Amino acid sequence: MEKKEIKSELLLNTENGWNRIDDKELPSLEAYAKEYISFLSKAKTERLAHDFAVEKAKEKGYVSVSEKEKLQPGDKVYISHSGRTVFFILIGKKDITEGMNLLGGHIDCPRIDLKPNPLYEDSELAFFDTHYYGGIRKYQWVALPLAVHGHVVKQDGSVVNFSVGENEDEPVFSITDLLPHLAQKQAEKTIAEAVTGENLNLLIGTVPVKSTEAKLKVKEKILQILNEKYGMKEEDFNSADIQMVPAGKAREMGFDRSMILGYGQDDRICSFAAFKALMDMNEIPEYTAGVLLCDKEEVGSYGATGMQSFFFENAVAEVLHRMEKTSLVDLNRTLSKSKMLSADVNSLHDPNFPEVSSPNNNMPQMNRGTIIQKYTGARGKSGASEASPEFVAEVRKIFNTNGVLWQTGELGKVDLGGSGTIAYYMARYGMDVIDCGPGLFSMHAPFEVSSKLDAYMTWKGFKAFLNYKR
Ligand code: MN
Ligand code: MN
Repeated sequence: MEKKEIKSELLLNTENGWNRIDDKELPSLEAYAKEYISFLSKAKTERLAHDFAVEKAKEKGYVSVSEKEKLQPGDKVYISHSGRTVFFILIGKKDITEGMNLLGGHIDCPRIDLKPNPLYEDSELAFFDTHYYGGIRKYQWVALPLAVHGHVVKQDGSVVNFSVGENEDEPVFSITDLLPHLAQKQAEKTIAEAVTGENLNLLIGTVPVKSTEAKLKVKEKILQILNEKYGMKEEDFNSADIQMVPAGKAREMGFDRSMILGYGQDDRICSFAAFKALMDMNEIPEYTAGVLLCDKEEVGSYGATGMQSFFFENAVAEVLHRMEKTSLVDLNRTLSKSKMLSADVNSLHDPNFPEVSSPNNNMPQMNRGTIIQKYTGARGKSGASEASPEFVAEVRKIFNTNGVLWQTGELGKVDLGGSGTIAYYMARYGMDVIDCGPGLFSMHAPFEVSSKLDAYMTWKGFKAFLNYKR
């Protein structure tokens, strides 16, 4: 006779999410995954993610805040900075100084940027010299097809945007690696030293120009092509953002199609979920709902478009100004009474590397839902903005009453590594903030792995949070 396992109501539910989710929800989960995969395949840079979001928001009735003189409940506006950071806001019924319900994710991802003077020739081969962006493991970025996305500003201020390598009929680029036959010395090095930052040179062309006095004939040929296509000369590289990212689309993964493989899931998996959660709001919410898609998180949130800047509070001040709330006290109350899910990814227990996992059910596991992380930081919670237990309880309640599968955990073992998000910059305003998002395998690698179920539960959780009536 089969013995049925008796589960204690007192124990944390750690059952696999695929066994807990209602079958009726599966079509909605699959539809969500499809839409997310399509976004991930298109929005390969923060500029593309920004433009995608602004365009979609406009379709949903959002307008730039500058187009509105007065704001009232139901109004939908956005405030953008430099085409790389954007804040969307839907004005709620309650006075905004009662606080907002906010979601904040980042749309920048680890990648390889070009140096100011990237183009050079060596041994009759043309290369781009690069400087990587964010915490990449360099050895993972060689011998892969890479695509280029350029935003070039000419001296006269005109802009040329281009992309090569994403479509199947376009060429790609690659950083070459040593053949194993000659890699004995390289193989003795540590992983961190085997491929260095200065090794990350992209091979971009091999054909010389025919009739010229020029010494660097292959470089000259590349310049000719760039001039023909984009009207560029070498000096234009100096005033450009040119990024190399893994070429091609995101895909379903696994025989059971339960996962997603794609570039940039940290943190576009959360940014997309947050953005879509807001776009799905068809009624005027009780509390003003806001979604922040930000830049520069991967390099410490510096710069005018990073969350260490005053972009966010300036944006909120612009909104308040249009509600005739112009005192600093109004701004302070609005910010400090807001509640935010800092929408960012987490790590997962990977049985290939069990030695780094936080033990005793403190390591997030794939398919157990979105992850609420009370604190980040490592080695004594260093740098963490720990959420209050009161706020954690609120989030628990929101998720549990809305059928959102969730789990908690730490990023890894106590004395190992650690990381930060935008949470502590937002916590400076005194608002309740907690990190929340799905876990990934191979985070920061050219292709990261997520679970459809965890991605879907994140979106579901974000929707519930934006609609939270407190
Ligand atoms: Mn992140
Ligand atoms: Mn990251």
